[in-house]
Amino acid sequence: MIRRLLTFAVLAGLLVAATVWLADRPGSVTLRWEGWRVDTTVPVLVLAMLALMIAVNALLRLAGAVVGGPGRFLAGRRAKRTQAGYRALSDGMAALAAGDSRQARKLAKRADRLLADSSLTALLSAQVHSGADAERHYQRLAERPETAVLGLKGLTDLALKQGDKAKALELAARGWSLGGTTDGLAATLFDLQAGAGQWIEADSTLTEAKRRKLLSGADLLHRQALVALARADQAERDGNAAAALDFAQTAHRADPILVPAAVKAAAALHRAGKTRKAESVLAATWEAVAHPDLIEAALALAPKESPLDRVKRVEKLVRLNPDGACGHAALAEVALAAKLWGQARTHLEKAVELRPSAGLYILLARLEREEKGDEAAARDWLMKAAGAGAEPAWTCQVCAKPADSWAIACPACGAVDSLVWR
Ligand SMILES: [Zn+2]
Repeated sequence: MIRRLLTFAVLAGLLVAATVWLADRPGSVTLRWEGWRVDTTVPVLVLAMLALMIAVNALLRLAGAVVGGPGRFLAGRRAKRTQAGYRALSDGMAALAAGDSRQARKLAKRADRLLADSSLTALLSAQVHSGADAERHYQRLAERPETAVLGLKGLTDLALKQGDKAKALELAARGWSLGGTTDGLAATLFDLQAGAGQWIEADSTLTEAKRRKLLSGADLLHRQALVALARADQAERDGNAAAALDFAQTAHRADPILVPAAVKAAAALHRAGKTRKAESVLAATWEAVAHPDLIEAALALAPKESPLDRVKRVEKLVRLNPDGACGHAALAEVALAAKLWGQARTHLEKAVELRPSAGLYILLARLEREEKGDEAAARDWLMKAAGAGAEPAWTCQVCAKPADSWAIACPACGAVDSLVWR
């Protein structure tokens, strides 16, 4: 600013000096051209020349604006179009996030029309379409290095939707090998590898997912426990008892509240002659989760025990977590077998109060019959049993079918880690 003012002051000074100098030296100029004659003074001539220069400059500028006009006009239109395209793209993403798929589809179409680079709209387009259309858009993303993992994850999910697990596994593994950190890719790949029985690969996926900070905490430990459990099974099938024990204990340590891990570790320890340790494994898990499989596993540690010793064994375990229906039901059953009628009745009544079930009503019928020979009362309980709800069981969260026993993959639909006790 100051520099401009200085320049202006210097120029104005020079102009004033020049004007004064010219005015002091009037002189005359005569122009003759084609029969014309102009007589004037030097200052007037200089002023006329200045005016001419300014006029020519203005004319040149005007001509420039007219000639360069269409280009600038088109560039402006293009910028406006791109801007509208970006707006449609971001609005479409927002509509998708809000669950308005119709609006998202409309905006995706508009963004596709307005933006020259179709790879920008591929993700939105893929998400608002289904089937072959979505596949085409994800394919386009998969072809560009910057968006390859995103595209492969989308193609994996599509393959899963179509029930093609082999294709999904191949696509997920490709995305993973590119160093993908997309949300859910690690878990999807792990589940697919586990479902295909590729436990060693599943194990390295977990190690890598931990390194990429995609899985951590209880989730990671639970998956590590599943891997160890599967490898314990494999070692058992191979007749390698030492490895089976090792893997089973690893599984229990990784996830101490995973009931099947405690059951397997206890059985393996028992086979290795470490029954005390087996008892403490079951006790540790029972303290957190009262589950009938743990009672069964505890009783299996001494199959030849007398009925009274079985009562003592179950009492010792239940004492650590005594208030649930499961503990009362277990105590009632062993007390009934030991003919401890009063104890059996107390625990049955408590268990029925907490969670009535057909199994408990059948035990009550047995009690009436064995203790008092009361067939009428027994029949009443059996009538109640017929109308009671289903017993809790390992049930698949995906296909809702019950399984006879826990398994890593649902025996009905093959979903990994889907069985819950309910
Ligand atoms: Zn299932």
